[in-house]
Amino acid sequence: MKEKLTIVKVGGAVVEDDLQLSQLLKDFSAIEGRKVLVHGGGRKATKMAERLGIETQMINGRRITDADMLEVVTMIYGGLVNKNLVARLQENGVNALGLTGADANVIRSHKRPLKNGVDYGFVGDVEDVAHETLGHLIEAGITPVMAPLTHDGMGHILNTNADTIASETAKALARIYDVTLIFSFEKKGVLSNPDDDESVIPVITPEDFERYKADGTISGGMLPKIENALNAVDAGVSKVIITLATAIDGKHGTVIKTVHD
Ligand code: ADP
Repeated sequence: MKEKLTIVKVGGAVVEDDLQLSQLLKDFSAIEGRKVLVHGGGRKATKMAERLGIETQMINGRRITDADMLEVVTMIYGGLVNKNLVARLQENGVNALGLTGADANVIRSHKRPLKNGVDYGFVGDVEDVAHETLGHLIEAGITPVMAPLTHDGMGHILNTNADTIASETAKALARIYDVTLIFSFEKKGVLSNPDDDESVIPVITPEDFERYKADGTISGGMLPKIENALNAVDAGVSKVIITLATAIDGKHGTVIKTVHD
C-alpha cells in the first residue's frame, strides 16, 4: 500500500494576507506525515514591478512575462515569498526546503509556443517532474516548498502557473504515494453564486464543470484551477479539494471527482 502524501497549494491572495497565511501555515504544519507546499505570489510581483518602474503587460487579462518581469518573478517567487514561507514553517517545526523547478532539476519545462498569435513570453509548460528526487527528499523528512518557477534545461528560468505546478507535482508523486491535493484560497470552495460565500458546491464532476462554465457560474482564475484539478484526478491523484485556506482538513470545500458517488 502506498504511503499518504498531502500537497497543499496556497493561492495568491492568501500569501498577501498575514492572518490567513499564519493560520494556513499552522494548519499545514499540523498535517501528519508526508507533505508538500506549493505557492503562488501574483500581486506581490506586480507591486514590486511597479516599485521598480517596470510596466506589467497584459493581453486578454493575462500577464506577459517579458525579460524584466522574469527577473521580478524570479526574485519575488523564488526569493522573498519562498524563503519567508520556509522560515515560517521552520518556526512551526517543519523541516521545509524551498525549491524552484531548477533546484535539483525538480521541474523541467519548455517555453510556451505562441498561442493564437500571442507570445506569453518566458512562461514554461511543464514537461517533467522528478518524482524520485522529490520522493528521496520527502523520505528524508523534508517538506518541499515549491515556487511557481521551472527551468528549460538550457539555463533559463520560466514562469509557471502555481496551480499547474501543484497538479503536475501531484500527478508525478501519485506514482509513489497516495496523494491528496488541496487547492486553498480565500473562499470556502467553488461557489454556485459567486456573490454568496456560503453557496459552496460540494462535488464537481467534468459534466458539472462544463455546465457551470457555460452558464458563467465558474469564471476567471477558477477555470484553469478546476481544469488542473480534473487533470490530477484523471492521472491517479486520490483526492482533489478546492477549499478555504483556513479549512484544509480535507473535510471542507469542493471535491473534484470524475463521477458522482
Ligand atoms: P488563487 O487564489 O489560487 O491565486 P485565482 O485568483 O486564480 O486563485 O482563482 C480564484 C478566483 O476565482 C477567486 O478569487 C474568484 O474570484 C474566482 N471565481 C470565479 N468563479 C468562482 C466560483 N464559482 N467560485 C469561487 N471562486 C470563483
